[in-house]
Amino acid sequence: MKTIGLVGGMTAESSAEYYRIINQMVRERLGGIHSGKIIMYSVDFGEIEPLMEAGNWERITEILKDAARRLERSGADMLLLCTNTMHKLAEPIQSAIRIPLLSIIEVTAKRILDAGLKTVGLLGTRFTMEDDFYRRPLEQKFRIKTIIPDKEDREKVHRIIMDELSIGKIETESRNTYLRIIEKLRAEGAEGIILGCTEIPLLVQAIHTSVPLFDTTRLHAEAAVDQALGKE
Ligand code: GLU
Repeated sequence: MKTIGLVGGMTAESSAEYYRIINQMVRERLGGIHSGKIIMYSVDFGEIEPLMEAGNWERITEILKDAARRLERSGADMLLLCTNTMHKLAEPIQSAIRIPLLSIIEVTAKRILDAGLKTVGLLGTRFTMEDDFYRRPLEQKFRIKTIIPDKEDREKVHRIIMDELSIGKIETESRNTYLRIIEKLRAEGAEGIILGCTEIPLLVQAIHTSVPLFDTTRLHAEAAVDQALGKE
């Protein structure tokens, strides 16, 4: 079994999910008391978040390159950034290490194509919804069209992630806000919804809506297990 390297802490709430899901999947596939070989380097999000809001992506790149190098030196065979937003910096981080970075965007795109969908709604942080690092590869490499909420709704989606989900607050009212936005995206032509922030699956799950959901946390963790067990 290969060793999975996780850059966690963005946030700790979703990193715990990666750890739980990977171990559960390895146990399901290998049986008995098997569990994943995992190394996690977890950053302090209290240092990262203000840098993000200030647009200081250069400093964040340095912090995450350092985390990636530490994981490589510790024996990780692959690297996962346990966050959609930081895939904005995937290229410079990959260039700092020799082990492969498993992209959450590519993993998700493949599942959308497997499901036969061509147009999806995208929910995530403001950066994930508005910058082009996420939508451009989906559209150009995978021919998947993305629809994002209007500005007012994007701000609500972003604030709920930052102010609530990132610190483990799960509120029914916020779930209803998300479900209303998901319905709007469906009415605009979305055949499915990318839960493009690793904390959103803590709030919205398949039991809450009939729209197909792409849970990026689970898909990313599952792809890591596939690679670790040599199924890719
Ligand atoms: N986990 C988030 C993501 O997948 C980023 C963390 C945050 O900005 O609160 O984009």
